[in-house]
Amino acid sequence: MLIIGPPGSGKGTQAERISERLGLAAISTGDIFRANVKGETRLGIEAKKYMDAGDFVPDSVTNKMVRDRLSEADVQDGFLLDGYPRTTAQVVYLDHIIAGKDDKLDVVLQLTADDEELVARLLGRAQETGRSDDNEAVIRHRLDLYHGQTEAVVATYAERGILVRVDGIGGIGEVTDGVMSILEDLLKVPVVNGR
Ligand code: AMP
Repeated sequence: MLIIGPPGSGKGTQAERISERLGLAAISTGDIFRANVKGETRLGIEAKKYMDAGDFVPDSVTNKMVRDRLSEADVQDGFLLDGYPRTTAQVVYLDHIIAGKDDKLDVVLQLTADDEELVARLLGRAQETGRSDDNEAVIRHRLDLYHGQTEAVVATYAERGILVRVDGIGGIGEVTDGVMSILEDLLKVPVVNGR
């Protein structure tokens, strides 16, 4: 399963909650990059300059990182990818990885939200977390990339008939419950209540 949404749509929070309920490994490319930046690894040093500018880390770097992560043992029974793919080239690459596993994508969840709402949310988050890519110019650039590149990714999955769109504005629990009831119908998985 994939979760796609503009910056500030709550995809990281929802990915964690949904993956826990479905018993899937959650993989966030943004989190892996941030951990590498913190650890000052070669990957982190390379990624940081793009992240700070709100740009995408180059596909070649990101694709290899995802390929390595998806070869680990904990994802062999399924995974939820958060924040990947974001470009058409990444879609092609992911198709290739998944075909190599003789597997398929079941569902792509898109969280939607209005741009101005997202900017307000992210400026609030900047004050709490001090994330270096949460200032207004960088936020607007990340939103432009989302509209300019990632929406084409979403359109590809819509054409394949596996896209589910959910409004990301609302209470955290409300959004999770809405997503879970859709997934229950779609994937025929039982929803665990009260978590
Ligand atoms: P996120 O936490 O998902 O908002 O990601 C934070 C930053 O990490 C993004 O603004 C990009 O610089 C980088 N990043 C995360 N995922 C990708 C991806 N799939 N492709 C390129 N860059 C990415």
